[in-house]
Amino acid sequence: MSEHSAPRPSENNDGISSEPVHFIEQIIQDDLKNGKHRQIHTRFPPEPNGYLHIGHAKAICLSFGLADKYNGLVNLRFDDTNPEKESQEYVDAIRRDLSWLGYNWSGGEFYTSDYFEQLYGFAVRLIEKGLAYVDHQSAEDIAIGKGTPTKPGTDSPHRGRSVEENLQLFSEMRGGVHPDGHCVLRAKIDMGHANMHMRDPLIYRIKRAHHQRTGDNWCIYPMYDFAHGQSDSLEEITHSLCTLEFEVHRPLYEWFISALEIFPSRQIEFARLNLDHTVMSKRKLLKLVEDGVVDGWDDPRMPTISGLRRRGFTPQSIRTFCERVGIAKRENVIDFSLLEWALRDHLNKVAQRAMAVLDPVKLVVVNYPEHHTEMLPSENNPENPADGTREMPFSKTLWMERDDFKEEANKKWFRLAPGKTVRLKSAFIVRYVDHVMGADGRVEEVHVEYFPDSKSGSDTSGIKAKGTLHWVNAATAIDAEVRLYDRLFSDPTPDGHADKAFHEFLNPNSLEVRQGCKLEPALAKASAEHPVQFTRLGYFALDAKRTEQAGHMVWNRSVTLKDGWKG
Ligand code: ATP
Ligand code: MG
Repeated sequence: MSEHSAPRPSENNDGISSEPVHFIEQIIQDDLKNGKHRQIHTRFPPEPNGYLHIGHAKAICLSFGLADKYNGLVNLRFDDTNPEKESQEYVDAIRRDLSWLGYNWSGGEFYTSDYFEQLYGFAVRLIEKGLAYVDHQSAEDIAIGKGTPTKPGTDSPHRGRSVEENLQLFSEMRGGVHPDGHCVLRAKIDMGHANMHMRDPLIYRIKRAHHQRTGDNWCIYPMYDFAHGQSDSLEEITHSLCTLEFEVHRPLYEWFISALEIFPSRQIEFARLNLDHTVMSKRKLLKLVEDGVVDGWDDPRMPTISGLRRRGFTPQSIRTFCERVGIAKRENVIDFSLLEWALRDHLNKVAQRAMAVLDPVKLVVVNYPEHHTEMLPSENNPENPADGTREMPFSKTLWMERDDFKEEANKKWFRLAPGKTVRLKSAFIVRYVDHVMGADGRVEEVHVEYFPDSKSGSDTSGIKAKGTLHWVNAATAIDAEVRLYDRLFSDPTPDGHADKAFHEFLNPNSLEVRQGCKLEPALAKASAEHPVQFTRLGYFALDAKRTEQAGHMVWNRSVTLKDGWKG
């Protein structure tokens, strides 16, 4: 269930809050208060031609969230009127992502294709009222006849056809008498209308395409504009919430509602979500998948729900993000960092802590007994003591992070270096002894001595160590691959350039793969659903898919501990 379903303190019995609300919520509150509707009914209408992305999440949180909050209903409707680009794979992925986000479609699951017969009937009704006609002009002539925003259109020579002739021709279109594209059905509205969408829009076309649900039953398909609004009416949707690009279509939907005398669903538009450093059109995301630039729709760099999930995003972090973004009429571009902030904020509360070394160097505790291992307790999550502690093995040979050692360091360096003393997290204070260089000119081993009476939790040494380092016991470490991600595009608006295609702005460094990383043994039990904080490094999620393929653990960095991105 969504968090929106929880009653808020200032709500009265109707669930109507006196807190400030956005304009759509205000409309809903008014409609409930003045009795226009007893119960609201919203819908989410994805076209199954791609995976859901974070922009869809905004629309989902809005329509599902409002239905939850006002005890209404919400339908999931697959808008499947364009058979060539749609598939069952996408239907399944959309259902999976919605469930994962924590929403269920209380009003039911529907398909626009289930309404093909009713939509055909609506078209016949328009013809009978003299409000639609079959046009035999070429696509080009129809386009020319539409005119321009500043020049009125011209009537088609077929506009004056009789009702009988139109009924006959439309029935022939359905019957497969005419080849694809031979003629179309148009609504008869006003070729001089200021709104181009009202200049006798196409409502049916002939297209012999196999449909994933209706098979070859139909060789004519309704246009989006003749399916979308009508589906809302058939489902008695009270508030049909969509993005601003449909604002100019609204007069047409209202014209259909009054011409057909069907349920008057009210369409309300809001600004779509735009996020910097990414693209959000399914067509463009599909191109990245097809070009092999990413590892499928669920690549952790993709702005898709499935990609974010694989990256380690939680449903709650996505819902928090959508709430923060808010609902308004004005278009803007949201910082990718806000999405990362939402994740960091949530994982800080819920993620267990663990130690991992991504660029390992041997750390030898010279005065620690050989062949001895002791178990040291460490808090699983300091933000939530109820999460308890775990035992970490400690012995003479450990791994430390390469960049936690410097051969020469000044006073401001609180990590290891000649002359320096540091604490090993949840373990002992250690002091530099010496280090060993490898043949490659890089540091191979760092040697320290430890103070036996400085154990965390029972430190009586009196020694001060300014820095605390993470470490992993060498003998019990798990070898893993860790994948570090950066923005997929180096340009903040990759699809905002007239002279260059969006894929020319791909960030060549969006993925860095680290092999031979060392993880503490408790991580053997980690699951992909519960991202972990690697102490001092960030939040990481197990990549179940790659782990299975690779035969060793593969982790994705979900987000760093601090916002270190400088655009
Ligand atoms: P695309 O242009 O990527 O194909 P779309 O809008 O055609 O996206 P649909 O499957 O038709 O994709 O979208 C379903 C719903 O999600 C629509 O109501 C649409 O308004 C909404 N939606 C899509 N993209 C965004 C976005 N970036 N922000 C908010 N809502 C969105
Ligand atoms: Mg769409």
